[in-house]
Amino acid sequence: MQESSLPNWHNVNVAECFREPAEYFLVSKDPAALHATYNNYSLIRRIYGQVPGGMFGSDENCRHGYIDPRQGTETCGFVEQMLSDEILMAQTGDLLWMENLEDVAFNSYPASMTEDLRALRYLTCPNQVQADSNNHNPGVDNSGPFFCMNPFSSRCCQHNHSMGWPYYSQNLMLASADGGAACLIYADCKATLKVADGQTVTIDEQTHYPFSEDILLTIGGLKKNQTVNFPLYLRIPTWTKGAHVTVNGKTIDCQVHSGLLQIQNEWKNGDEVKLYLPMRLTKRVWALNKNSVSINYGPITMSLLIKERYEKKDSRETAIGDSHWQEGADASKWPTFEIYADSPWNYALVENLHSMKVEKRPWPENNYPFNHENTPIRIKARGACVEGWGQDATGLCQILPDARARRGKVEEITLIPMGAARLRISAFPPMR
Ligand SMILES: [Zn+2]
Repeated sequence: MQESSLPNWHNVNVAECFREPAEYFLVSKDPAALHATYNNYSLIRRIYGQVPGGMFGSDENCRHGYIDPRQGTETCGFVEQMLSDEILMAQTGDLLWMENLEDVAFNSYPASMTEDLRALRYLTCPNQVQADSNNHNPGVDNSGPFFCMNPFSSRCCQHNHSMGWPYYSQNLMLASADGGAACLIYADCKATLKVADGQTVTIDEQTHYPFSEDILLTIGGLKKNQTVNFPLYLRIPTWTKGAHVTVNGKTIDCQVHSGLLQIQNEWKNGDEVKLYLPMRLTKRVWALNKNSVSINYGPITMSLLIKERYEKKDSRETAIGDSHWQEGADASKWPTFEIYADSPWNYALVENLHSMKVEKRPWPENNYPFNHENTPIRIKARGACVEGWGQDATGLCQILPDARARRGKVEEITLIPMGAARLRISAFPPMR
C-alpha cells in the first residue's frame, strides 16, 4: 500500500478519502488498510501540503508542479478534511488528526466565507491577494469565477460549508473506552454525558480558545452529595510548553501520555478544572516552497494584514453555470463581493521572532473573531517589499519569488490570523 499515486486527485475526494482505508481497517483488521490512511496523508502533505493552513494545493485537482501557496482548496475540501480528522481521531486515537483539524478550522475554513456567512468562495488559498470573478486558469486548475464571494455559485460548497462547525461541535466532548470523558478540541460548550457505569454528568466548558490560553471545565449534573469516579482526558497540543492544570485551585501532578493528560478523580458538582496552555511564537520553513516562512502563535497562523476593499456585484452575473439558485431569490439582497488589495502585499518577512511583538486585544462583543476589526491578536513584525513580485495577467499573485529577487527597505508590518484575512500572504518569502 506504499504507493505514490492515488486513484483520484480531486481535492474533495482526497480530503474525504483519508478516512476511508482506516474505516475499512475497523472491519477487515488488515493493518495495510490503516497504513494506507497514513500513507495517503503523508503523500499529500509531502507533495502538495508544504504550506500553512492544514490543507494542500489542489484547486480542483492536484497537478504536478503546482505546489505554491497560491494554489487553493474548495470550501468543501476544508469541511471534508475537518470531518476526516474528526473521524480519524475516534478511529485511531492519534492526536495528529486533532492538530490538523485545528489548523484547518482556525486558519483556512473561516476565510472561505464573508463574515456575515451569506456568501462563500469556491477556492481559498494560503497566499491570495485578489478575490474577484476573473478566470485565473491556468494558474489555478479551475476555469471560471472561483475566487469571489458569491451566495448563489458553487453548489457543492453551498451545501457543505454550513456543516463544518456543526461537525466540529459534535466532537467537542468524546467518551473514552474506560468510562471517562475526553476533551480533545476546545471551545465554549456544555456537554451532557454518561460516564463510569452510566452516571450522567455535565461538563460546562468556558474558553475563548484558540485566542486565549485558559480553559475552564466545571462538573455538574450530579445529585446533591453524589460523587462519581471517572477519568477526564485533556489534550496537550505539541505547540505548547509548560502546560499546567489545577483541580479546584490546586496544582496537580499528572502524567501526559502521547499528548493526553489523564485526571482520575472522584468528581462532585462544582468541581473546576483549569487548563493553561501557554502560547508562543514559532516559525515554520517550507523548504520545498523556496524556504518560505510562516509564523504561528499557538495554533493560529498569521497572515499579512492587507487592506481589503469590497466591491459589490450582481450575484447572477458572477455565478457559475450549474448554480441553479432558488427561483425568485432577490439577488439585490444576496450580493456577490469581490475583494481587492488596497495596500501592498508583496512583503518578505524578517524572520527573527524576538523582533516581533504580540498584541492582545479584547474579545469581540459579537463573539466573531475572524475579521480585521475583531481579531483578538495582532503581531507587529518587520518586512520589506520584494521587487518584481506582483500579479499575473489574470490578477493571480505570482508564485513565490526566489532568493535573488531584490528586497526593499525594511518597515513595520502587521500580522493578523489567517482565518481573519480574506486576502492573505501567510507563506512569506524570507528576507534572504
Ligand atoms: Zn465544493
